[in-house]
Amino acid sequence: MSRPVLASVDLHALRQNLQVVRRAAPGSRVWSVVKANAYGHGLDRVWRGLETTDGFAMLNLEEAILLRERGWKGPILLLEGFFHADELPLFDKYRLTTTVHSNWQLKALQDAQLHAPLDVYLKINSGMNRLGFLPERAQTLWQQLRGLKNVGDMTLMSHFAEAEKPDGIERAMTQILQATEGLACSRSLANSAATLWHPQSHGDWVRPGIILYGASPSGQWQDIATAGLKPVMTLSSEIIGVQTLKAGDRVGYGGRYTARGEQRIGIVATGYADGYPRHAPDGTPVLVDGVRTGTVGTVSMDMLAVDLTPCPQAGIGTPVELWGREIKIDDVAAAAGTVGYELMCALAPRVPVVTV
Ligand SMILES: *Cc1c(COP(=O)(O)O)cnc(C)c1O
Repeated sequence: MSRPVLASVDLHALRQNLQVVRRAAPGSRVWSVVKANAYGHGLDRVWRGLETTDGFAMLNLEEAILLRERGWKGPILLLEGFFHADELPLFDKYRLTTTVHSNWQLKALQDAQLHAPLDVYLKINSGMNRLGFLPERAQTLWQQLRGLKNVGDMTLMSHFAEAEKPDGIERAMTQILQATEGLACSRSLANSAATLWHPQSHGDWVRPGIILYGASPSGQWQDIATAGLKPVMTLSSEIIGVQTLKAGDRVGYGGRYTARGEQRIGIVATGYADGYPRHAPDGTPVLVDGVRTGTVGTVSMDMLAVDLTPCPQAGIGTPVELWGREIKIDDVAAAAGTVGYELMCALAPRVPVVTV
């Protein structure tokens, strides 16, 4: 072992989180969202922890093919569909469910030479204004797709922009319900926030991502503290240096932190090149030897400094948890002005990952 920084991925917690989803959305099938390399956890590593899911949803064809090659025979949904018509033969070969969100995709699907029809998710824009057709076109498009020889099972899909707010899906739900009135279609609408907090949106398939990994869709751990979700990723390291500061001594680049009196600090082998947020301010929570303390000074590329005042026994080799079971990734993210999603996805390739 060289540098002590390490990420561990807890497959047991992942399985438990999937059970929490099942209890939150009884009667709905579950797309486990594993885009962005399973939110930074490693698709190849985590998919087995999610083997009891009903399907996997992602963005990259490469990741979809990897899952097929590993032996996953169930449904795979590409959340943005194909990016170019020339990918359709691979959708056909690997039996992937495609989203259709634009006219050009519909046309390409119509014109493709396939061995068998593909299952299709028709994406409606319900207010996010990223991808999808206007709700008023839903009925016409549904009938149009229905008539294509290349189209198998169809599901109506939409994605909420504000599902973490208590009344955040009302407008979108009204639009979707109006647009699909009288249409007997299966539906997939709910992301993590809607899965937890808006049961009226559950429909046939829910699409949770972040909660599978044990972080909050709102960015606030308190919002999911009682849901039974367990953090899946732990980022840990060790203290590799100790300094005793005198009043007025400063720490790190730019000297952002100044000691008010004598103070011991520990230098931790983790920096922004490992994925720790450079914007973390002084006092960002960190666990040293099981004791909660805070960072001091600007995070460097390979190191950061922590206050050892609450843990005088700590020294070289003392274990540090940057985030995980005790230090919630949501809390680190909130301190740094971001969300758990971004920190997970930004875990750097140079950090070794183990499965526990
Ligand atoms: C990422 C994504 C999800 C999952 O979102 P979470 O907030 O992580 O639950 C669901 N649906 C679509 C279309 C997505 O892009």
